[in-house]
Amino acid sequence: MESLAAMEEPREPSESQEFAELWLQNLMVEQPENSSWVNDEYLPEDLQGVFNEPLFEVASDSPQPSTSPPTPTIPVATDYPGVHGFTLRFQQSGTAKSVTSTYSPDLNKLYCQLAKTCPVQMEVNSPPPLGAMLRATAVYKKSQHIAEVVRRCPHHERAAENNDGLAPPGHLLRVEGNPHALYQEDDNTHRHSVLVPYEHPQVGLESTTILYNYMCNSSCMGGMNRRPIMTIITLETQEGQLLGRRSFEVRVCACPGRDRKTEECNFKKQQEPKTTSSSKTPASNKRSLKEAPSRPDCSKKAKTGSSSDEELYTLQVHTHTHTHTLNTHIIHTILHILHTILHTHTKYTHYTHYIQ
Ligand SMILES: [Zn+2]
Repeated sequence: MESLAAMEEPREPSESQEFAELWLQNLMVEQPENSSWVNDEYLPEDLQGVFNEPLFEVASDSPQPSTSPPTPTIPVATDYPGVHGFTLRFQQSGTAKSVTSTYSPDLNKLYCQLAKTCPVQMEVNSPPPLGAMLRATAVYKKSQHIAEVVRRCPHHERAAENNDGLAPPGHLLRVEGNPHALYQEDDNTHRHSVLVPYEHPQVGLESTTILYNYMCNSSCMGGMNRRPIMTIITLETQEGQLLGRRSFEVRVCACPGRDRKTEECNFKKQQEPKTTSSSKTPASNKRSLKEAPSRPDCSKKAKTGSSSDEELYTLQVHTHTHTHTLNTHIIHTILHILHTILHTHTKYTHYTHYIQ
């Protein structure tokens, strides 16, 4: 890239305009008046003050281009190590009750508490060009939500707590302890992201750690609203050219250790061959059913969404729970209907036996 000094004396308006665009789209934050999100103090000396000056006046004389958005409208989350072999690593934090951030390699999923430190280690096998940046963006995981921008819920955005002015209050993702962090809202997609300059690992280390914070719970009403999200980390040149991409799922919750354990357990159950569950004898099914309410979430939830037999037994659990309060006649009527639907006499017998 040419030096900034050279760009201040543009010889070729179109080049300068292109640079201005790139700069605005990829490096500069959207900066409302009186905003302090970019602190000149932390910029390189030759850039100090440029954010407030009409450096690229030449661009305003030309019609604004409508092409080449810097980021795709539909975000891409597929892994792309690129020529620098970009990868992420996470600390092994386990699933203890007290853990505030823990990563599941099986699920490629980070579990963390609101506003708690989530260290993510960035690793490359060859250094990226000088001025490379690391951008983190949160996106919804499911295709029906992916077009929507992930932002904080109205409550947390407006609350005094965790809004110290260092980051825009609407941004879910923050970088902790890095004065070079830049918060950006894309002009085209309005997606939020936070950038930090890529730093080479310190001597003796293989990776550079960035500390992320998630500023809402996954369950926040009016925000994520229980919709799962991914975090996409991209390694980019200073001009915004993609060098590498990695992503992981995130759940922000009160008990990261417990939720990780539960979801890993469910995942492993789903991975088991289906013959295992269908080969169980009715007696063993019944026994596990009776134990379900006193066992961890794992055993109970694992039944949902696997084989149809197991879904049937999940229904039994609910019926059993309310046996004392439901009229027996109603239960028998339900069972009769179920029997009619299922045409499975053995299962009906099993039900009947169980509720008595
Ligand atoms: Zn919230």
